[in-house]
Amino acid sequence: MTVHTRPYVKDGIELDQVAVKGIRVTGHHGVFDAERETGQLFFADVVAHVNTRAAGAGDDLARTVNYSDLADRTADVLAGEPIQLLEAVAERIARAALEFDGVQCVDVTVHKPQAPLHVEFQDVSVQIRRDLRDGGLWADKRIGSSAGASDDPFDTGAGPVRDVLDQRPAQPVPALIALGGNLGDVEPTLRQAVSDLHRVNGIEVRAASPLVRSQPEGGKDQPEYLNAVVRIHTALAPRELLAACQGIELVHGRDRSDASGNRTVDLDIVDYDGIQADSADLTLPHPRAHQRAFVLLPWSSMEPDAQLAQHGAIADLARGVGTDGVALVDDRWPRPSAPQTPPSP
Ligand code: ATP
Ligand code: CA
Ligand code: CA
Repeated sequence: MTVHTRPYVKDGIELDQVAVKGIRVTGHHGVFDAERETGQLFFADVVAHVNTRAAGAGDDLARTVNYSDLADRTADVLAGEPIQLLEAVAERIARAALEFDGVQCVDVTVHKPQAPLHVEFQDVSVQIRRDLRDGGLWADKRIGSSAGASDDPFDTGAGPVRDVLDQRPAQPVPALIALGGNLGDVEPTLRQAVSDLHRVNGIEVRAASPLVRSQPEGGKDQPEYLNAVVRIHTALAPRELLAACQGIELVHGRDRSDASGNRTVDLDIVDYDGIQADSADLTLPHPRAHQRAFVLLPWSSMEPDAQLAQHGAIADLARGVGTDGVALVDDRWPRPSAPQTPPSP
């Protein structure tokens, strides 16, 4: 029997599906002691949504997801550490699948046909769909060259080239973005902003620092800040990157007219491929980042050997400013926290 799975659309393209169905493993998941002790059969169907066009054209396994690996990881979860709920089993499988390069979205169905019910039945199953916005955030994305216009709402288009800040790089280049906020539900906003960055055509988020808490520079009566930095690779020109950052700030309700300086989210370009430039709208590297503990501490923890143009080793700069009101909040950020799902039979 062929089951068709609803397509997943990314950037206007319906992705292809790599499916492994009926993976059968004895597992020990369940709420009852007997289930834990004896174990029973679990079945899983996994559909990974990927763009296989490159792999199909070049017959290159490295460019698609290997279904044998997908099946192995699924079986590992089914046979692995007993957990109570089918939902949680499905969630773990989804997360494992999203860690494969190229997998944008995954549908997981877990079946438990021997579940201890009081009536005759054929099957109990839980089906979930998760995509990178729920899962690993950046395990997926490999940006190619800067060629090609995008349909992304944050992309303002290349526009006229006035100076080096309008020039798109020949190949994607590394850049560092600092995020901070002190209004509203800050942690989810920062997490969403990281995800938004990754969704912009021409930006690939490669790594995120731990999340830290810091005292406001502006005054003690302001709410404290949460801060982090992310390493991106970008095919955008510096000004396009700034526009993308400001677009994300806007989406999250940044109010620039607020004289207190409080903000839902602020995204600064700390560094763009070591470029040094100073213009009315954009200064690179960011003129104050090298003095800020809330940038230097998370950055040095993410990339202990990093250097900042004009200023040298981040580790030295971080040592120089001290910890200065900055405290670690979460060193696994922005990985999703444990799934919270209601119980099922
Ligand atoms: P600070 O720059 O000291 O962190 P801020 O982030 O609160 O202050 P904003 O009001 O967010 O300041 O930005 C003011 C202007 O700074 C922006 O409109 C932008 O044009 C300009 N700017 C210059 N260099 C940069 C940079 N490297 N990253 C982000 N914005 C920059
Ligand atoms: Ca700032
Ligand atoms: Ca800013």
